[in-house]
Amino acid sequence: MCDKRHLSFSSESPEDTLAIARALGEALRPGDVVALVGDLGAGKTLFCKGVGEALGIPPGRIVSPTFTIVTEHAGPVPLTHIDVYRLSGAREADEIGMRELLSGDGVCLVEWAEKIAELLPMDCIQVTFTISGDDRREIAIDAQDHPRFDDFRARSQRFQPRG
Ligand code: ADP
Ligand code: MG
Repeated sequence: MCDKRHLSFSSESPEDTLAIARALGEALRPGDVVALVGDLGAGKTLFCKGVGEALGIPPGRIVSPTFTIVTEHAGPVPLTHIDVYRLSGAREADEIGMRELLSGDGVCLVEWAEKIAELLPMDCIQVTFTISGDDRREIAIDAQDHPRFDDFRARSQRFQPRG
């Protein structure tokens, strides 16, 4: 059995969410897949901006790929930003080459990842957002015994994880 890791945060503002995302982004390495789960407006795209910033991509360049489905950003570590909201599910995603995208050389972020759960790698990092107020979001981060997780835990200590 793989050891499971879990951290949870309360974000009180968009800036808090960006800071948590930057801490995760600093810990990520090429080949990592981050699955983002949460309702519309929960903060998935904002979180991607923070991860991108940590990877050296200006936040203004990261916009929601809901209509394009995939945006690829060149950088020191390439970032593939995917939003599968408009896809019917894993089968359609598979048909457009999702497996290849998910096993690319860079870091891969997937919004609405639960729609393609069966295509996600076992070692992906899952970030789950819950809207708990106008400006408040609960952010839970789960991973298998992932080599990046302890690094992220250390980097995120200043955000006072509750669990
Ligand atoms: P999603 O991609 O999940 O649909 P977005 O990141 O596009 O969501 O939008 C999140 C919206 O919620 C933004 O308008 C953002 O300003 C707002 N917001 C308010 N409080 C927070 C918070 N604590 N964390 C993230 N977003 C927040
Ligand atoms: Mg979005």
